[in-house]
Amino acid sequence: MLLKPFNFHAPNSLESALQTYGSLQNVKLQAGGTFLLNGLKTMKRKGAKTPQHIISLAHIPELKGIEDQGDYVVVKSMTNIDEIYDSPLLTGNLRVLRVVARNISSQLIRNMATLGGNLTCRYTWTEMPAVMIALQARMHFTGVDGKEEIVPAEEFFKNAAKTDKIFTQASIKKDKDISFAYYRAKKSLPVDIPLLSLCVTTRLLKGKFSQTIVAVNNCVAFAQRDRKLEDFLNGKAVDQAVAETALEHLDESIYAARGTDYKKYMFRVGIRHVLRDLTEKQR
Ligand SMILES: Cc1cc2nc3c(=O)[nH]c(=O)nc-3n(C[C@H](O)[C@H](O)[C@H](O)COP(=O)(O)OP(=O)(O)OC[C@H]3O[C@@H](n4cnc5c(N)ncnc54)[C@H](O)[C@@H]3O)c2cc1C
Repeated sequence: MLLKPFNFHAPNSLESALQTYGSLQNVKLQAGGTFLLNGLKTMKRKGAKTPQHIISLAHIPELKGIEDQGDYVVVKSMTNIDEIYDSPLLTGNLRVLRVVARNISSQLIRNMATLGGNLTCRYTWTEMPAVMIALQARMHFTGVDGKEEIVPAEEFFKNAAKTDKIFTQASIKKDKDISFAYYRAKKSLPVDIPLLSLCVTTRLLKGKFSQTIVAVNNCVAFAQRDRKLEDFLNGKAVDQAVAETALEHLDESIYAARGTDYKKYMFRVGIRHVLRDLTEKQR
């Protein structure tokens, strides 16, 4: 047997999931299962203690789908990566979610892996965290007491993505005047996970950067903003030259963290790439 035995719970409402979650010890939540089940197999192989209970979130209608709610679009936690890629509601600034979804692993993984799993699994290399920071998304959680808590994505990842609640949805303000650029470098040819990724959003006003957010995932720490680069870019003309001069204004501590020369080089390639991409977009 690949897994140690556990009790499997499959609630069909958020309320009943919260009740079950609050009443059990030694319990784990399952979204798409793509990380969790692999993790349990590894734990068994190493002789480590595994959870006694698994609560699947797969049959909870409140946690599924993408909704237009006026000024905001809400992406519920059990929406899978393929549904994000396919959604006609993700336009303007939100289209970056589709760009990222298209690059995540294989079709099989995209069919199972969920937004919630990607954001809360606490693997530092998953790609949606940087995108949520760049979009200034709000992350919604419900605790076993039924109370909702809303946390800006940036705060959640500053606190190392820790939660004892159920993540229910991300809400993101629609803004067709925000431009974005995304860059990801593969870790290696056979293993399609990223070595690093960058997501930049900006409002291009009269040919200049404004309200720029540079979200960086160095894949060894949780995604974070490079505020030094943001400060440098805001107010600068969007042109080819900025892609070169920007490289002198990085918060090096982010890019140097456990970085090889190759990785540091690829970050510079990525920064040039996203800034040139934004230059093209404003033409
Ligand atoms: C081979 C492979 C390649 C991949 N490549 C990429 C890639 O290139 N880019 C990328 O970004 N990602 C990649 N991933 C990750 C993938 O996109 C998923 O995000 C990830 O596997 C977890 O999603 P899941 O829904 O399967 O979560 P699960 O495995 O079900 O859950 C993981 C953990 O997240 C927590 N969790 C899940 N949902 C909730 C919730 N609603 N509330 C609270 N806690 C929750 C639980 O603690 C759970 O144990 C890859 C995964 C695999 C297996």
